[in-house]
Amino acid sequence: MPELPEVETIKLQLQKFLVRHRITEIEVKNTKIFTGNPKDITKAKIIGIRRFAKVLTIDLSNKKSLVIHIKLTGQLIYKGPNLQDGEILSKKVVGGVPGPHTHVIFHLDKGGFLYYNDVRRFGWIKVFDTDNVEKEGFVKTLGPEPFKNLDFEYFKSILSKTSRAIKVVLMDQSKIGGVGNIYANDALWLSKINPKRPAKELTETEAKSLYDAVHKVLQAGMKYGGASELAFVTPDGKEGEYQKHTLAYGHEGEVCGRCHKAKFIKYFLSGRGTYVCPRCQKA
Ligand SMILES: [Zn+2]
Repeated sequence: MPELPEVETIKLQLQKFLVRHRITEIEVKNTKIFTGNPKDITKAKIIGIRRFAKVLTIDLSNKKSLVIHIKLTGQLIYKGPNLQDGEILSKKVVGGVPGPHTHVIFHLDKGGFLYYNDVRRFGWIKVFDTDNVEKEGFVKTLGPEPFKNLDFEYFKSILSKTSRAIKVVLMDQSKIGGVGNIYANDALWLSKINPKRPAKELTETEAKSLYDAVHKVLQAGMKYGGASELAFVTPDGKEGEYQKHTLAYGHEGEVCGRCHKAKFIKYFLSGRGTYVCPRCQKA
């Protein structure tokens, strides 16, 4: 699932492509994905794009906002006059746009379009009053997030309250917003912490090392425009590059890049692929 760096990358492009444009029409082809009255947002001008952990908002001039969670395979694809390099669509945009997996189409002024594609259809788009985005619904359930309101003291207090495996806690969106499987694996490897360690048993030094590692790997993810796993593409139709730079994630059977002695093993922890160097990340 796209994580903080992927959704941040989408946000930055949408800011460039959409802000100051007006929504002229909305075609909702799948009412399970789009909740709300399209009339509430038609003719409104897009004034800003925000991100809350893995969720995006498109804020409108009429005090309405679209809250968007792309989940596993959702894609927001822009076509229109603000696309500098022309239209190059990744093969990950299955069926193209508009295509059989396009569920919502936003028509914009000046001939622009924003398409919502989703093969698995787990994603959703909901209309909210802008004032209520943070007060109700999904955004309210999110824990503090790195680079925003997750300070070290708070991070430590989260860990100290639970004996669940540290990796599971890192990925729990109600505790910490934005960290998913790829970056949790990489942050744990970077800080030499075994993913199964009970969170509350981490020492202060380990917690600090992990806190810094989480920020470092997320920063790298943003630098490379996210990881194009599964269906992740950016609104310009291209793919991210972080999958070529992961530290532990996806390295099963390969020699660890730090100790150069042990090979990464892979197992499933709470159903998610977990990559560990048995030498660097002792249990
Ligand atoms: Zn190692």
